[in-house]
Amino acid sequence: MHERLLKAIDARADDLVALTAELIRFPTVNPPGEAYRPCAEYIGERLRKRGFGIEYVRGEGAPGDTDRYPRTNVVARFDGRSPGPCVHFNSHVDVVEAGDGWSLDPFAGIVKDGRVYGRGACDMKGGLAASVIAVEAFMEAYPDFPGSIEISGTVDEESGGFGGVAHLAKLGYFSKPKVDHVIIPEPLNKERICLGHRGVWWAEIETKGEIAHGSMPFLGDNAVRHMGAVLAAFEAELFPALDRKRTKMPVVPEGARRSTMNINSIHGGQTEDFRPGLPSPNVPDWCRLTIDRRFLLEEKLGDVKREVTSILDRLKRERPKFDYDIRDLMEVQPTMTERDAPVVKAVAQGIMEIFEREPDYVISPGTYDQKHVARIGHLFDCIAYGPGILDLAHRPDEWVGIDDMVQSAKVMAVGLNVLLRGGAS
Ligand SMILES: [Zn+2]
Repeated sequence: MHERLLKAIDARADDLVALTAELIRFPTVNPPGEAYRPCAEYIGERLRKRGFGIEYVRGEGAPGDTDRYPRTNVVARFDGRSPGPCVHFNSHVDVVEAGDGWSLDPFAGIVKDGRVYGRGACDMKGGLAASVIAVEAFMEAYPDFPGSIEISGTVDEESGGFGGVAHLAKLGYFSKPKVDHVIIPEPLNKERICLGHRGVWWAEIETKGEIAHGSMPFLGDNAVRHMGAVLAAFEAELFPALDRKRTKMPVVPEGARRSTMNINSIHGGQTEDFRPGLPSPNVPDWCRLTIDRRFLLEEKLGDVKREVTSILDRLKRERPKFDYDIRDLMEVQPTMTERDAPVVKAVAQGIMEIFEREPDYVISPGTYDQKHVARIGHLFDCIAYGPGILDLAHRPDEWVGIDDMVQSAKVMAVGLNVLLRGGAS
């Protein structure tokens, strides 16, 4: 149907591979936020040559932003011949540390056996490159298109996105009338449309005690034992209750189609700094636990919190000397774009044209930058769609398939054509 458009993408397959490899060679490791500026400038320069207006927006004051590690975002915009909606492709440029276990250099951008290897190959420099190629091919095929196209490369997604999409959203970059539709090419698989994510509540619970000599623990009050009582109550009541809560959200993997809670860490008493010596005999007077609760569209954050605090309050009533503090660390509401939203229908049309099948509609178990687009930008026409397999993200020998990138670039280009030109060929 869109022969000219799809041919323009095939003609750019080598360019797509080269761009992905080039992006991987910027070691944009977060933390600390290495090489953000040169990576942003590389993207900006490429698009400037193709007529885009380029802005560099630093996430000043965001966590981690320093002169040594500036949180540099790039936003590129091209206005078509006539007014119309704006489609925005947003990719994060940061990657997590390489870690051990690689059989090749994680920042060399090595191409072999139909794949591009490297840290960030699938999460998500392959997706960023595919969106750039999709846009460039679209502009060549339909130079008179109406509306506008934006491409952004943003920072810090892996650490919450505060210096990246959240910062831009506060400045109006992810709101109407500037932007109408947002596609985030995260590696969710080329035949899937990701409509949103579950909610998040992180909190720190502290139990209190009283320090005393370890040989006479009855003279003090052991905060770690109090936390043990908290954990026992969680095991007996909370975890089974969470397991029973099911959602209509199509979360993948299926194990995440319910409420979950992880204990991220527990610390109490003296630190382990005494090593290689010996500890001193103290009754710990504090113990802290961080919890990571993922909740569902069907749940209210207030209820989610009350499930935990009601257990703590009951222990306070029933357990001698028990006292606690609880502190919120992060709150993210669950979000799910409607199945009949324009951007969903447009990308679905692309998937049907390229793969001759209906897309799978999924929800991510964890959050990504869509949360800021929805909550700060109040823009709800947003999805994640991109090449790559999520399971490979953050792992050794991460890779993205070249065919997958080419095909998903075609899907993005067809989707863009639906949104800006009504799908005309
Ligand atoms: Zn990602």
